[in-house]
Order: sequence, then C-alpha cells, then structure tokens
Amino acid sequence: MDCNSQPGLLPIDQAISAMLAAIVPITTTEIVSLADSLDRVLGQAIYSAINVPGHDNSAMDGYALRHQDLTPEATLNIVGTSLAGHPFNAALNRGDCVRIMTGAVIPAGADTVVMQENVIRQANTIHIQKAPLCGENIRRAGEDIAINTLVFEQGRRITPVDIGLLASLGIQKVTVFKRLKVAVISTGDELKPLTNTLQVGEIYDSNRPTLIALLARLAVDIIDMGCIADDPTKIAAALTTATAQADVVISTGGVSVGDADYTKDVMQTLGKINFWKVAIKPGKPFAFGVLNKQNSDNAKGWFFGLPGNPVSTVVTYHQLVLPALRYLAGEIFEALPSLNMNVQHNLKKQPGRTDYQRGQLITHNGENLVTAASNQSSGVLSSIAYANCYIVLESERGKVNAGEEVKVVLFDKFLQ
Ligand code: AMP
Ligand code: MG
Repeated sequence: MDCNSQPGLLPIDQAISAMLAAIVPITTTEIVSLADSLDRVLGQAIYSAINVPGHDNSAMDGYALRHQDLTPEATLNIVGTSLAGHPFNAALNRGDCVRIMTGAVIPAGADTVVMQENVIRQANTIHIQKAPLCGENIRRAGEDIAINTLVFEQGRRITPVDIGLLASLGIQKVTVFKRLKVAVISTGDELKPLTNTLQVGEIYDSNRPTLIALLARLAVDIIDMGCIADDPTKIAAALTTATAQADVVISTGGVSVGDADYTKDVMQTLGKINFWKVAIKPGKPFAFGVLNKQNSDNAKGWFFGLPGNPVSTVVTYHQLVLPALRYLAGEIFEALPSLNMNVQHNLKKQPGRTDYQRGQLITHNGENLVTAASNQSSGVLSSIAYANCYIVLESERGKVNAGEEVKVVLFDKFLQ
C-alpha cells in the first residue's frame, strides 16, 4: 500500500505487478500462414535466412560506373542496360557505364551510380555534369536486413508492416502462440438485448459489445456468454460454464458493494480473489482472481471482474485487463509513450486514486492543446468515444489548475 492510496485500495502499478506475478504466459504454439499471422504473437524469434536486398542495387534511375573513371569532362560509353529484374551480366571495363534503373542490380566492376539528371546523354555516351561521390546512389546488399540477424523477438505482436517485412524475407509460415479463449459475461437485471423495446429502468447492454469489440483487436477467441441476471445461482452457473471453455473470463457489473452485487461472493465460492479494489478512477471495484481452484498449470480460469459503469469498464479494461491479457498471450510490450502537456482548464481531482480523465489532444495553429471531456462521469460512455487520449493524474495529486503540466497518453488501436 502506498501512502497516497485510500485505505484498502491497491495502487494501480502494484495491481498490475500482482497480476503479472500470478499469471504464467501461454507456451503452446501453432504454425500459421503469413497471411493469417496479423495481430498474432510470435512464438519464436525470427532470424533472416537471406540478405534484403539480396544484391547491391541502384537507388536512382541513372548510370552505373567506375568512380575512378570520372576525370573532369569525362565521357563514358554506355555498354548495356540493367533493369529491375533484368541484370546486366558482364563486367564494366575502363570508361564504360551501364544504363540502370531503380532497384536494378549494380553490374560487376561498377561502384557508383550517377543520377540521370546529372548527365548529358548523346547517342551511346554520357557527359557527367555533376560528379557523384564514390559509392553514391547504391543500396547495399543486406542494408535493410542482413543475413542471420534477429528480425523479431519471440513475443512480438505482428503488425501489417511486419507481414510485409517477413514477406521480403520469403517467410511463408510463422510460429505463433495459440489464441487465448476469452469468455465475456455481463450481469444486471436492468440489461436488455438490443432487440428489446426498453421499459422504465431498463438499459441496453453496452459493455458486452464494447468488450467483445476491444478483444477482437487482440486476436483472441471470444466466447460470448450473454447477459446474466443478478442472481447468485445463475452467475455461478455462467462462471462455471465459462471456466470450462475459456482461459480467461471477463465479467462486468456486480463487483461493487451494492445489494445486488453478487459477482464477488460467487467468485469467492468458486475460486480465489487475488484483489478486488484498485486505486483507480474510474473503476475502483475491480476483481482479479482465478476461478478454477484446481488450476494446476495456471493457464485456465483467470477472472477479471469489471465494474458495470460503461466508462469504468473501458478504463479498467485498458489499464488493467489489457496488460494482463497481453502478458498471458506471450506478448512482450511496452507501455505507450506519454507526453507532458499544459492542460487548458481546471480539472477536478481528489488525492487517493490515479485518475484517467478522458481528453482531446488537438493541434491548433501549430500548437498542441489538451482539454478534458466536460462530463467525467463514469456512466457517460460518449466521453470516451469522443476522446483521443487519457489525461493521467497521479494518485497523490489534488485539483489541477489550468496551465499545469499533466501526463497525456494518446489512444492507440488497443484503446479505441
Ligand atoms: P454495477 O457495477 O452492476 O453496480 O453497475 C453500475 C452501473 O453500470 C449501473 O448504472 C448499471 O446499470 C450500469 N451497467 C452495468 N452493466 C452494464 C452493461 N453491461 N451495459 C451498460 N451499463 C451497465
Ligand atoms: Mg449491477
């Protein structure tokens, strides 16, 4: 417990450390085609079996030549052509040059390319107007990726550009960690499916669709357990069914201390709660534990109980569930970079919890400005839909005045 936290609340970094200490990352792998590897986590490191590019080649359209031939007023004879995919297959002699296009292999004997704009061509000769430096305009074999080098470490999550890079190495299949199976449950008597017409006091279940969409970004298999009433027997049955199929169960609602909040009690009978109160705003009631008491290999039955307020659900998913899931999935990742910026207006804040206010970072007349959403209520989901960053206010901090420095973390694809 750090001295800035409210009593009984676990500081967020301690909550994350506790989850990472409890969780054992997945080790089972499978082989997938390169095209199917997007967003998957590499199960083994990748080394390059070839040089990329494979040969020295031209960075310009121009003429390949021997730099030593470039006397003042030099005239060189064009003895052939090297096109991308069609190399010139002889060596250059003294005074020779070869017409060459971008990407074409540098012929034997040539060590420099002069760009075509810097020569005057007459029939089969060129006059150099501006001499290149020795070695200029040549892309070296292996300068992108050299043979036998480490390209990607185990634990990298594959991006679209990574797929291109692996294709450039001729890699057709990759070893990735198996997809996690993640079950999603929402709880609450007031929640209705989107097909219903709402009666007084009823609301649509928005947390489950949000979580399912957020989880899709992680390339996990999602098991939609639907919406469960505030009934301990039904919640226990749903959690038991979910645990039988899933590595991870995420629920929303019912983790607080209200009269109809049963998730925590059910959890306690089915499994073990590691912690359930975090010094985070929004989202203080957040349960982490394991549902499967017989969990021998630590791979199954992790439980994340998220608070029901829609913004709290999203914030606790981003700040707590995402790091834990990414770690469990075998991923090596770093926290997003943050910017220190002066906030445009006053922010309400009480010491005791790290606050993740929803903000907008804009560039106006060349100046970066950050503002917080005017309504920071944990029930106002539009505040996060319209935001593009978190304004992270440290636990010990009190109210913030306009002009004070705040930490800003821009959303990336995992956050929106
Ligand atoms: P709870 O955490 O169950 O006390 O719920 C807190 C607030 O979040 C209440 O106003 C609930 O109606 C609302 N809520 C709970 N679950 C959902 C959900 N799945 N979708 C939208 N709002 C919800
Ligand atoms: Mg509820």
